[in-house]
Amino acid sequence: MMEKESMCDQNKLRDIEYNYKTIEENISAAAIKSGRSREDITFLAATKTVEPVYINHAISLGLKYIGENRVQELLSKYESYDLENASLHFIGHLQSNKVRQIINKVDLIQSVDSVKLSNEISRQSKLNNTDCDVLIEVNIGGEESKSGIQPEQLTELLYEISELDNVHVKGLMSIPPICDSKTEIRKYFLQMHKLFVDIKSKKIDNVDMKFLSMGMSSDYEEAILEGANMVRLGSALFGPRIYV
Ligand SMILES: *Cc1c(COP(=O)(O)O)cnc(C)c1O
Repeated sequence: MMEKESMCDQNKLRDIEYNYKTIEENISAAAIKSGRSREDITFLAATKTVEPVYINHAISLGLKYIGENRVQELLSKYESYDLENASLHFIGHLQSNKVRQIINKVDLIQSVDSVKLSNEISRQSKLNNTDCDVLIEVNIGGEESKSGIQPEQLTELLYEISELDNVHVKGLMSIPPICDSKTEIRKYFLQMHKLFVDIKSKKIDNVDMKFLSMGMSSDYEEAILEGANMVRLGSALFGPRIYV
């Protein structure tokens, strides 16, 4: 009989352990450098293309948050995640007609960028007798090809969402443009942090600026230095993605 453990690559499990420790140290160091502590920063693993056995291994090491990008992939892996010990977020572009499929499965949707999508989240939440926490995705670089609300339209969107039942804004999320230098990317992170502080000061009903989700494998330390309190890491934890 083959044991479950031997079905997966032992070297990969060891790599994940090593990477997890390194990331924890780096997050701590960046948090302290920015006047905060490790507990102030939430580490979410972006798990697209990663098999559940590896995701659950990371959870066994202490990982508390995981995020999927695609509805189909989330559904196919859903039964295998160790969700007793971790919280599942949706972090990818979401079409309104797919909200129904994930509403009872995720704890938070990080990628809300329109009234239409918010309305559908509200409607489906009510139908399912549940509530849904969301982050608003901001297109901080103003890139045409990217999803996310334009910074100038953020406040208006927040006022509209604040009126909806069963939807609760918990912060902002962003994926800045690809930059040649750390100095350049820090400018986008800084702009996001300004928006975050600005919105917080408006004290909009039903809008809680708790999470500022920004920073990925190549730039999470810079993001933390500029005020991020949630980072989303894929390849730094699991290694390069293998698309099949
Ligand atoms: C894949 C992904 C990440 C992580 O990317 P890495 O560069 O592998 O860390 C973070 N956020 C979102 C929305 C993603 O899709």
